[in-house]
Amino acid sequence: MLFDLSQPGRRAARLPASDVPHVELNELLPAEARAETPPPLPELAEPDVIRHFTNLSTLNMSVDTHFYPLGSCTMKYNPKRNERMANLPGLLDLHPYQHEQSLQGLLELLYELQRYLGEISGLPAVSLQPAAGAHGELAALMVAAAYYRDLGEQRTKVLTPDSAHGTNPASARMAGFDTVTIRSTPAGYVCLDDLRAKLDEQVAVLMITNPNTLGLFDRQIAEIADLVHERGGLVYLDGANMNAILGIARPGDFGADMMHYNPHKTFSGPHGGGGPGAGPICVTEKLDPFLPAPVVGRRDDDYFLDYDRPRSIGRVRTFFGNVGVLVRAYCYIRTYGPDGLRAVSENAVLNANYLLSRVKHFLPVPQGDRCMHEFVASAEHLKKEKGLKQPAMDLAKRLLDYGFHAPTVYFPLTVHDAVMVEPTETESKQTLDAFAETLFRVTGEAGEVLAEAPHSTLVSRPDEVRAARQTVLRWTAEQPAS
Ligand SMILES: *Cc1c(COP(=O)(O)O)cnc(C)c1O
Repeated sequence: MLFDLSQPGRRAARLPASDVPHVELNELLPAEARAETPPPLPELAEPDVIRHFTNLSTLNMSVDTHFYPLGSCTMKYNPKRNERMANLPGLLDLHPYQHEQSLQGLLELLYELQRYLGEISGLPAVSLQPAAGAHGELAALMVAAAYYRDLGEQRTKVLTPDSAHGTNPASARMAGFDTVTIRSTPAGYVCLDDLRAKLDEQVAVLMITNPNTLGLFDRQIAEIADLVHERGGLVYLDGANMNAILGIARPGDFGADMMHYNPHKTFSGPHGGGGPGAGPICVTEKLDPFLPAPVVGRRDDDYFLDYDRPRSIGRVRTFFGNVGVLVRAYCYIRTYGPDGLRAVSENAVLNANYLLSRVKHFLPVPQGDRCMHEFVASAEHLKKEKGLKQPAMDLAKRLLDYGFHAPTVYFPLTVHDAVMVEPTETESKQTLDAFAETLFRVTGEAGEVLAEAPHSTLVSRPDEVRAARQTVLRWTAEQPAS
């Protein structure tokens, strides 16, 4: 720990002797502004500090250091160019309370981003405010609730397939709806009979992820949307998997009325560890009046924040939303252009299918010989074979010893001992081959080796439930160092 390295009097920098008159601190600051004792800071030389933080930064895996096939999360490489752009002083040093006239550049960028997101989704009305995908879900469901209030209709239910991301039913509950689960067929698609049975005039919204969390594109989507629309309901598309269909299919064209993007996934941007994301939402014209205010508008050559939206649900985020993430998304979209974005998706799907074709021979993939941008294998057979209780977890942990970040495990819930792999388009064939070979090798290892993995990391298996409930952010002498 940094405090253990402290040596009295050690400094990173020494100042030259002062050549201005000496004034006591108490003559400059009133007593109530002065601490009685100096703050307890460690005293260190610059190399001590740099080595400490550089070493700390290597204890975790990251996209910049390791292959990171975390399904559903789209941990693609984040081009450094976008970081440089987001750090331009003209964007970084703005203050949200500046007058609109002095923010024209940023507002233009955000206005254009609204248009791009509307074009890519086929849903023209856009709000950039929500702070994450889950927040976009909540905001859009609030928009739906406002829409039905405006129509004078009382609708209380939101439908979600059993393969849905946990945030879908959670957002529905937060927005005040009851949730009803729709079964999937054994092949992994929405069961139309179950959908028909559960659709009634109480249904406000069907939330659907397409391609779904099994990495499958549900070709029934237009029919599903028709069924929901016939009953007066709205279709919400969870856009977390847009990575697979950019420039190929547009949610607005296949029947969605609303959706969110996860720009930190689809359009790159550092995420994980709770870092900032964004969750822009796009809706059809009839839902436009209910979007959070303000949206960025344009009047002749001027960009402005449009607050004149009487039916809006109001603000869901301070100022303009998480602008830094949005600037990165803008740069990403502009860098690739329409053809480039389509190539991104084609390569994401190609990489996933290549990996699937290698992995399915030793880890069965129950739903499919083909996938979109990710696939879900099952480690269930290793339970009996190796006497393991949580084989997917054990494989995931063992991969860390070989220098690979773990895939997503135990999600979606519809596959037993799920191992969900999303390679993304930014990985080479060599990396995919190395990963497939390592995964193969790991599935052949002894049960005891797997059950106690990882063996090479600083911390092996924390009690995750306890870690979440009793977070300890201070390292004390009593805690074992490994
Ligand atoms: C990541 C994800 C979400 C939630 O998005 P956040 O930006 O993490 O809030 C919702 N649905 C799916 C399918 C996801 O993969």
